[in-house]
Amino acid sequence: MAGKVETHQFKTEVQQLMNIIIHSLYSHREIFLRELISNASDALDKLRFTSQTEPELLGDDTELKIRITADKKKRTLEIADNGIGMTYDEVVENIGTIAKSGTAGFLETVGDAGLQNGVAPELIGQFGVGFYSAFIVADKVTLITRAAGHERGTKWESTGDGSYTIEVVDKKTRGTTILLKLKKAEKDEENFTEEWTIRGIVKKHSDFVAYPIVMDVEKTEPVLDPDGKPEKDKTRKVIREETLNSMKAIWTKDKKEVTEEEHNEFYRHISHDWNPPLAHLHLKLEGTTEYNALLYIPSKAPFDLFTQEQKHGIQLYSKRVFIMENCKELMPQYLAFIKGVVDAPDLNLNVSREILQQDALVRNIKKNLVKKILDLLAGLEQDKYETFYAEFGHIFKAGISQDFDNKDKIASLLRYKTTSSDGKYSSLSDYVNRMKPDQKDIYYITGDSLTTLLNSPHLERLKEKDIEVLLMTDPIDEWVIRDLHEFEKKTFKSAEKGDLDLDKVDDKKQEEYSALFDFIKAGLEDKVKEVKPSTHLKDSVSCLSGDAYDMSAYMEKILKASGQDVPKTKRVLELNMDHPLLAKIKAVYEQDKDALVLKDYTDLLFDLAVISEGGKVENPSKFGKLIGDLMVGAIDG
Ligand code: ADP
Repeated sequence: MAGKVETHQFKTEVQQLMNIIIHSLYSHREIFLRELISNASDALDKLRFTSQTEPELLGDDTELKIRITADKKKRTLEIADNGIGMTYDEVVENIGTIAKSGTAGFLETVGDAGLQNGVAPELIGQFGVGFYSAFIVADKVTLITRAAGHERGTKWESTGDGSYTIEVVDKKTRGTTILLKLKKAEKDEENFTEEWTIRGIVKKHSDFVAYPIVMDVEKTEPVLDPDGKPEKDKTRKVIREETLNSMKAIWTKDKKEVTEEEHNEFYRHISHDWNPPLAHLHLKLEGTTEYNALLYIPSKAPFDLFTQEQKHGIQLYSKRVFIMENCKELMPQYLAFIKGVVDAPDLNLNVSREILQQDALVRNIKKNLVKKILDLLAGLEQDKYETFYAEFGHIFKAGISQDFDNKDKIASLLRYKTTSSDGKYSSLSDYVNRMKPDQKDIYYITGDSLTTLLNSPHLERLKEKDIEVLLMTDPIDEWVIRDLHEFEKKTFKSAEKGDLDLDKVDDKKQEEYSALFDFIKAGLEDKVKEVKPSTHLKDSVSCLSGDAYDMSAYMEKILKASGQDVPKTKRVLELNMDHPLLAKIKAVYEQDKDALVLKDYTDLLFDLAVISEGGKVENPSKFGKLIGDLMVGAIDG
C-alpha cells in the first residue's frame, strides 16, 4: 500500500539557508559527502546505543555500515546506512523544517548580502550545514528511510526549489538511503560518480568514521582453473565490496602520530563545526583509572549555544566500541562546550545514563579531565586564551559557583576589562598587583555595557584617586563575585553600593545640608529609602546607590528581564555636597521652605541620577519640560 503523496513548501528560512549553502560552498562541494556520511554515522551510533536496551531493533541486520553506490550513466550517487532511520514525523521535523534554533540569528547575521551572494564557508560551517549540503551537488535529492522497529518507510524528495514531497512507502530494510541526482559537472570539475574521487573524499574527510564505508568496485582478477589455480593470461572483471575507510580510532594512536589535519577532520566529524579547534588534549592514562581521551576546545561558540540542548559533546567509548553520544556525566556544565571522545576500557558496554552518574570510574575520569582542561587553559598563549574567553568566558565563569574544588584555579583564569586596562582583559592577579598601596578591596561595577560603566557617576571619586575598577558586563558576573567573595585575600567591593570610605565625609557640611536632605527624602518617599552625602561623586550632582547587601540595579534589571518577580528595592539617593547646583537649591530652600520649585528640583535630582546610570525616567515629558523651563531661565538670566 503506497500512501498519498503530499507536497509541502519549505519554510522561508529553510529555503534561504539552502540558497546560502549552495552559494557559499560551491567551491567546497565535496564536503556534501562528508556531511551525509557523518549523518549516517550518527544514525548508526544511535541505533547501537538504543539496541543495547532493545536488542530486537537490530534483528538479523547486525553489520552496521554505510554503503556508497555510484551510477555513472544515470549520474546518481547513493549513500545508504542501516542505522536508526526516521519515522514519517521525524522526516517532516528534521528535514522539512529547520529545527536549529540559531537559524533566525544566523540569517540575521548574514543579512541581505549574505542571502544574495553567500557567506564565508567558515561562517556557514559554524552553523552546521548537514543534510542540505546535498543540494550543492544534486538537482534532486530523494531520501528514503525506515525507522528501526517500524513497518513502513517514508520517502522525501525535493529539487531544492521551494517545495518537497513526502509519502509513506515500503522499504525492506531499516535505515536511510539518500539518492542524489547529480548536477552536470563542468569540464574541469570533479565527477562524484568516479571511484577514485569518492575514495579520495572518504579518505580525506571520513577515514576515522567508526563504521565501514563500503563501495562496490570493479576489480580485475585472474580466472581460476577448476583446481583453483590462476589460468595463464586470463583475467576477468569482477565487482567486489571494498571498505574505503581505515576506521582507525585516532584517540588510540600515539599523540605524536596524529597530524593537525587529522585533528581538524576528526574534530569536524564529532562536532559538526567547521572552524578548526582552538586547542586539543590527547590523553592516555594507565593505572587504576585507565582511559584514552581526545578533547577539543572549539574556537567559536555555536550560534545556538544557549537555546539548543548541547548535541555534540563528549562521545563515550569502551575499547573503541561506541557507548553513547553527548555524555554529560563526563563534563561539568561550565565546560559543556568541550567536544571529544573518551574511551574507557573498563566500562560496561550496557551501562545506562542512570548508572553512569553513580559510577566511581566515570566520576574519577571526569575529575581528571576537568583538571587537565583547566591546566590546558592556563597554559594557552595569551591571544588564544582571550579568544577562548571571549567566546566561552560567560559559560566558563559559572565554574566558580559550580566547582568548589577548582574554584581557585578557575578564579585565576577569570579575565575582566577594567577602567585602566584600555579595553584589554586583565587577570585578577594583575589587578591585585596594580592595587594602590593603601587600597584594601578589589573594586568592581556591573552593568550591561562597557560604555555605560566607564561613564558611570559612581566611579568619579575612584577615578579621581586613580583606583582601578573591574568592569563586569556578563549577567553571570554578579553571581560569580558573590560566590568568589575574595581573591588573594582581598574582598570584592561594589563601586556602586555602600560607602566608599575614600575620604572622610565633612561632618560640618553634612550638618548644614541635613534639613534639605530630609526635605528631599520626604518628597521622594516612595522611591528612595535614604538621601545622603555621596562618597562616589565628584562632578555629577546625584546618583543612586544601594546598601552593601542590596541587589544591584543591573541584577534587578536582569531578573526582571527574565520574567522574575523582583521585590522592589528602594535605592539610596546620593547627593554631591560639593556641587554648585546643590548649594543653590539649598539657598532657595533656606529662603522659602514652601517654594513650589523645590518639588521640581527634587524630582530632577532623582531623574538625573536615574539617567546617569542608563535608566529610564518615569515621566520623560515632565522631565523634558522641567529641563526646558530651567534652560529658559538660565538663558534669560
Ligand atoms: P545535523 O546533523 O547537524 O543535526 P542535518 O540537517 O544534517 O543536521 O540533519 C538533521 C537531522 O536529520 C539530524 O539531526 C537527524 O536527526 C536526521 N538525519 C539526517 N540524516 C539522517 C540519517 N542518515 N539517518 C537518520 N536520521 C538522519
